Amino acid sequence: MKTNYWSVDKFVDNLENYPQIQQAAHLLAKNEVVAFPTETVYGLGGNAREDQAVEKIFTAKGRPSDNPLIVHIAEQSQLAAFVESISANAQLLMDRFWPGPLTIIFPLKKGFISNRATAGLDTVAVRMPDHPVALAVLKAAGLPIAAPSANRSGKPSPTTASHVKEDLDGRIAGIVDGGPTGVGVESTVIDCTTEIPIILRPGGVTREQLEQVVGEVQVDPALSDEKEAPKSPGMKYRHYAPDAPLYLVEGTKEAIQRHINEQRREGRRVGVLTTKENETYYDADYIFACGERAHLESVASSIYEALRSFNKQDIDVIYSEMFPTEGVGNAIMNRLLKAAGQRVISG
Ligand code: AMP
Ligand code: MG
Repeated sequence: MKTNYWSVDKFVDNLENYPQIQQAAHLLAKNEVVAFPTETVYGLGGNAREDQAVEKIFTAKGRPSDNPLIVHIAEQSQLAAFVESISANAQLLMDRFWPGPLTIIFPLKKGFISNRATAGLDTVAVRMPDHPVALAVLKAAGLPIAAPSANRSGKPSPTTASHVKEDLDGRIAGIVDGGPTGVGVESTVIDCTTEIPIILRPGGVTREQLEQVVGEVQVDPALSDEKEAPKSPGMKYRHYAPDAPLYLVEGTKEAIQRHINEQRREGRRVGVLTTKENETYYDADYIFACGERAHLESVASSIYEALRSFNKQDIDVIYSEMFPTEGVGNAIMNRLLKAAGQRVISG
């Protein structure tokens, strides 16, 4: 399949009327799948109402079919067609964080959304993205759009259109290029079907921010205990992995350098994931400085770029520094641990 490629300026007015966006929306209405930028990562969208369209998302990504998709909307009024009820907490969170990087789980009203999108569950995950291009595509299509990240399943999520192209060129109908994304890690997923809301996946909105709006918020125990079964089906899969094995090192940079030296003595090429503060300290074959440790948002926004970059460097093993699990650091460490297959070594 030939993949259409449209470049758009995210700052123009009435973007939904632009020919590029109209073409993308037209393909979505014909049940084709199209990638577009959101404020978190690039999404691969398809008509959430049609099995045929949703099937194409799973096929293009190679995504396991028991992993449900997030339905994207442009207006809160779209919810009534497929959500059974909206709890008071859900309403407070939508009013505060939508559009934005927060996905809310609602009880599903059956019959409107494809069962393939919800993986047969009796709940549905919904989000309103805070990106002019995403909102324009959603408005022009006039449909709820199921959209997971636009990468091959298991690979790091895409934060630029060229990442999408690397993974999905020839497998999807189109890519809308609206420049690099901002937040860089996926949305926070929160279950609002329980009396006390539960975070199922840490992401762009932090627990602290959520608690300011609805009071107590719990965290799915499976996020910190491997033996627990996660409530969010997608959290059980290995994700975001670079080709070479990645190890997170609990310890000083001196300790990391010792690991590097050991590997290089045995003839391996070593990559290091660090931040601007420590960039010049290391002696390794390839060093990626991922933002600044003093500003964890900057680390989040380039973490997937970092993980992807190692694949282009003919690296045999990667060592990464660890990050504090506060604020968006929770999402960063969640993604790094998955990318590392939970391998943490001490210094
Ligand atoms: P992705 O689309 O790759 O960003 O992943 C979406 C995440 O939301 C996955 O971890 C899914 O398992 C999760 N998810 C989607 N729908 C539901 C739902 N109804 N209940 C719980 N988790 C969900
Ligand atoms: Mg994903």
